[in-house]
Amino acid sequence: SFPAEVVPQAPEDPLFGLMRAYKADPSPNKVDLGIGAYRDDNAKPWVLPVVKKADEIVRNDPEANHEYLPIAGLASLTSKAAELVFGASSPALAEKRVASVQAISGTGALHLGALFLAKFYKIAGANRTVYLSNPTWANHHQIFTNVGLPIASYPYFDKSTRGLDFEGMKATLRDAPDGSIVVLHACAHNPTGVDPSPEQWAELAQLLKEKRHFPFFDTAYQGFASGDLDRDASSIRLFVEAGFELVVAQSFAKNFGLYGQRAGCFHYVAAPAPSAAETTTRVASQLAILQRSEISNPPIYGAKIASIVLNDPALFAEWQDNLRTMSGRIIDMRKQLRSKLEELGTPGTWNHITDQIGMFSFTGLTEPQVLKLREEYHIYMTKNGRISMAGLNSRNVEYVAKAVDKVVR
Ligand code: PLP
Repeated sequence: SFPAEVVPQAPEDPLFGLMRAYKADPSPNKVDLGIGAYRDDNAKPWVLPVVKKADEIVRNDPEANHEYLPIAGLASLTSKAAELVFGASSPALAEKRVASVQAISGTGALHLGALFLAKFYKIAGANRTVYLSNPTWANHHQIFTNVGLPIASYPYFDKSTRGLDFEGMKATLRDAPDGSIVVLHACAHNPTGVDPSPEQWAELAQLLKEKRHFPFFDTAYQGFASGDLDRDASSIRLFVEAGFELVVAQSFAKNFGLYGQRAGCFHYVAAPAPSAAETTTRVASQLAILQRSEISNPPIYGAKIASIVLNDPALFAEWQDNLRTMSGRIIDMRKQLRSKLEELGTPGTWNHITDQIGMFSFTGLTEPQVLKLREEYHIYMTKNGRISMAGLNSRNVEYVAKAVDKVVR
C-alpha cells in the first residue's frame, strides 16, 4: 500500500472547509460570503429563466438522444462561443485563425490549454514559465503545476489602495524572460474584483507585445461582471486586434448558471499571417488528440442548453436580460454595503467595494477580523478577506455592515 511518505495526507481545500463550517453553524443569522456561485435575494441558487426555457426545449426534443458528442464538442456551441468572446465580426474568425474545442467548463479549458502548452510550447523564443497574478484563483497554481510547467507570479493587488498595483505588474512582466506565458483574467478578477482600466489594458498589450509574451486569458465572468457581454470581452478583443497569438479558457458556469453541467470552451487564436489558417488546423488536430486521451468526448447536456440560447436571437436577448439581473443585483449589493459602512462611519475607506467588479471583493479585512466575524457574528469568508457579493442580500447586508463595523473598530 502507499505509505504516507509517498502519499501524504493532503490539506483540505480551504473553501470547502469553510463551506462545511458554514453548514454546521446552527445560527439563524449566519451569512455565507465564501460561496463562489450566484445567489438571488433569498440566498437561493438561481436557475436563469432563459436556461429553464432552453432546458424545456432540450427535454422535449423528440430527436434527442445520449450519443457521444464529437471530440471537439458541439459545433453549434463552439462556433457561437467563439463569436461571444471575439465578436461576431472578428477578423480572426473570418480569417479562420480560431480553433475552438468544447471543454469541461473553465477548469477543463484551462487544463487543456495548459496541457497543450506543456507539450508544444517549446518553440524558438519560448519561455515555459507561467506568470500568474498575485493573488489569483487558487486553482491556477495546481492546473499549471500539474502539467509540469513552472509558475511565477506578478504583483497585482495593491493593499494600500485596494486597487491594481499596475506599476508592480508591469515591472515584473518587463523583467520576465521574453516569451513567457502570462495568465490574465479577462474581467472580474478572482479573488480581488480589481480589473485594469481600458487604458491599462492597452498598455499591457503593448508591453506583452514588446516582450513577445504569450497571453493566456481566463474568462469566467463574461456578462456577469458588467451585464454587458461586449464590455466584459473587450480585454481579449483588444489583444486579438493587436495581432497576438493567444489562448482563451471560457467558462459558462457563472454567466449561464450552469455550474455543475461543466459547459465551457477552449480557444486558440493564431496571429495574423498568410499561414495562420494552416497553423490553426494543425493546432486543432493536436487539441483533438489531447482531448481524446483526457475525456474522449465533452458532456452534452449543458452544452445543448448554452447552444440553444446562443443560437436563438430571442433567447439570446432574454439571456442578456438575465445577465443584467445578476450583475445588477451584485452591483446594488456593493453600493448598499459601501453606503452602510460609510453611514456607520466605519474606520477606513470603502470606495473599493464599488470600484471592484464581479462576484468577489477584496475587503481589506485582516485575518483576525475575518475570524472574529466568523466566531462572533457567524459571517463566513475566506481568511484573505475576500467576500462573495452573491452572499449578500437585502436582508443581511445591514447585519454584515454592522458586524464589519464592530470588528474593524
Ligand atoms: N477561472 C476563474 C478565475 C474562476 O473564478 C473560475 C470559477 O470560480 C473558473 C476559472 C472556472 O470555473 P468552472 O470550472 O466552474 O467553469
